[in-house]
Amino acid sequence: MVSLEQSVFKELDLETKLEILSQLIVNGIKIDFSGGDPLYFEDDYVVIGKAIEKLPKSMVNVSTTGASFNDRKLGILRKVGKVEMTLDNLGGSDNPYRPKGYNESSMQALKKLASAGIRCSAVTILYPFTMTKYNLLSLHGWLCKNNISQWDILKFSTVGRGTGHNNLVVSNDEYLEMMQFIESLGGPIRIAFQHSLRVLAGNYTCHAAHESIGILPDGTAVSCAWALDQDGKPLDGFYLGKLPEDNLGDILKKALESLAYKNRQATCRILDYQNREGK
Ligand code: SF4
Repeated sequence: MVSLEQSVFKELDLETKLEILSQLIVNGIKIDFSGGDPLYFEDDYVVIGKAIEKLPKSMVNVSTTGASFNDRKLGILRKVGKVEMTLDNLGGSDNPYRPKGYNESSMQALKKLASAGIRCSAVTILYPFTMTKYNLLSLHGWLCKNNISQWDILKFSTVGRGTGHNNLVVSNDEYLEMMQFIESLGGPIRIAFQHSLRVLAGNYTCHAAHESIGILPDGTAVSCAWALDQDGKPLDGFYLGKLPEDNLGDILKKALESLAYKNRQATCRILDYQNREGK
């Protein structure tokens, strides 16, 4: 699977984006469009529209926001496999890490998606503000009541815009304790922990370059879509190549043949990098 991520890089023009998309389609690669908001610019509609025209529904996911959510977006999202939206807490409480109104718009959009029968997921990032039993219990109750299909739980990582926010990271034991609590909530919703948490729990191996890569808006391919510095550039050792100049098949082959990715490993490669670099 590939994530098409946003960064501060100069975006490719539409024609080149479509060229890269063709490479992904030819290689039968599942795509997760994520951002920022991958339904913001007019070009984005063309790219996602082409992806859903050429690939089966199950092979296109979109991670978007509730901002300016309208019938046009709903129409496109009906044709994708899954829609994800970040929801760290319910509206009404002041989250200093999210823009004002962010949660409320996600909640409204999630309700519309669920009412339209679209498979959707609320994504909650774990950091001290969100890691209270009260917050998680409230979220779980709201999601179940509104028939949201899935709840994805992520760990905060000090990458990209989060670089340097080490105060938002807690100990492994605290993550594990919170995961146990979330799991115990049960209910009709599917609860899924992201790989960075599953490696902590010891029941997953890092799939960077093996099952997924990231493609940045300038065509840079990275072995993990999250492995970016504060400027949105790949962390050392995560750069795989540049599309469309490099061939996608060659990039993946070379990555898997390299010592760095030959074997999947039981730890998160981003955390390993940060520990090595003392970050
Ligand atoms: S490097 Fe970490 S975040 Fe990236 S795929 Fe591996 S476990 Fe997941």
